Amino acid sequence: ESFDDMGLHENLLRGIYAYGFEKPSAIQQRGIVPMCRGLDVIQQAQSGTGKTATFCAGVLHLLDYSLPECQALVLAPTRELAQQIEKVMRALGDYLQVKCHACVGGTSVREDTRILQSGVHVVVGTPGRVYDMLRRRALRQDYIKVFALDEADEMLSRGFKDQIYDIFQLLPEKLQVGVFSATMPPEALEITRKFMAKPVRILV
Ligand code: AMP
Repeated sequence: ESFDDMGLHENLLRGIYAYGFEKPSAIQQRGIVPMCRGLDVIQQAQSGTGKTATFCAGVLHLLDYSLPECQALVLAPTRELAQQIEKVMRALGDYLQVKCHACVGGTSVREDTRILQSGVHVVVGTPGRVYDMLRRRALRQDYIKVFALDEADEMLSRGFKDQIYDIFQLLPEKLQVGVFSATMPPEALEITRKFMAKPVRILV
């Protein structure tokens, strides 16, 4: 199967090819389409399998670019990873004119607030700063329809469990959720049970 057969937006396809990807990896072949269909997904895969582009493509396909509101929230365990994901999101969404922002600790809260208020479609961040921005109402949750957790096992082992649950509490009830994790410890399974109704499970 190729990226062409996935029914992706033309400008998303252009972004994928311009980024240099020719053929979808195994996880991309199985994971992108269910996300585009609006399904909750659990994808268990190691890093290096192409999971970043899987959820970036899924997210980018789902957004309404005429709406200058945050519609997707991606959480990652570290600042570096969040910034890296944000770059991939921005690159793949280049022809969609997507506006992304990495919301991470160790940066200026005022600057974060300014950027968020200027209108971004996707926020990729670490749990602490994202929760802070939601609580300050600098990040508005009303239009968020996709919530993705990357390296869920790693976030849990770093003690982000309560913050992830606090964030989830603030998000709209009708929410598509994607959980990406190399391993599925009990706490990660608990998240999948709590946040999703009938998730599609993909194991690579
Ligand atoms: P990830 O598992 O998301 O960290 O991706 C691992 C590496 O594989 C990254 O350097 C990606 O740029 C690369 N990659 C992901 N998907 C593809 C693809 N379909 N074709 C070529 N390289 C890819």
